[in-house]
Amino acid sequence: MAEIPPYLQRGYITPEELFSIIPKPGEERLRKRPVAVPECPQEIPCAPCREICPTEAISMPTPNDLPIVNYEKCIGCSLCVQICPGLAFFMVHYVGDKARITMPHELLPLPERGEEVVLLNRIGEPVGKGKILTVVPREKSRGDTPIIVVEVPIELAWEVRAVKVVRE
Ligand code: SF4
Ligand code: SF4
Repeated sequence: MAEIPPYLQRGYITPEELFSIIPKPGEERLRKRPVAVPECPQEIPCAPCREICPTEAISMPTPNDLPIVNYEKCIGCSLCVQICPGLAFFMVHYVGDKARITMPHELLPLPERGEEVVLLNRIGEPVGKGKILTVVPREKSRGDTPIIVVEVPIELAWEVRAVKVVRE
């Protein structure tokens, strides 16, 4: 029987592990426009991301295969982030010394545009503060999930995968 990789055993994946199974977009591409990166390492029968992509940038020969994005074909439309039932798609865009991360946000409250939020890593630990740039509420999302764009320090681009709203 095949050995279960450590990231499936522990329930989250590190950036190093992720980029050992899918390609990492280059810096030039990351600065050009938002690029979608799937963090979907489990071979499960699921393919809405591939079906919704308007440029056929997501390759997945069978629904059990891992999604692989052709970063040059990705136009940064965010539909894969909106539709993914596993909340596994993110977009990353480098702008100056910041990174803009597009991510699903299912928890309430929904942050507001311009709001400062606590940045959380993949295991929910706070790693810094960021600013909300865009909010797409549930009723405007193609899936059932609101999405947000948060600006983070560039060195946290591959760590931040959720935010926490803290209001007095
Ligand atoms: S962001 Fe849009 S173009 Fe890029 S992979 Fe996702 S659905 Fe396709
Ligand atoms: S829709 Fe989400 S969970 Fe399903 S294959 Fe695509 S990335 Fe994975």
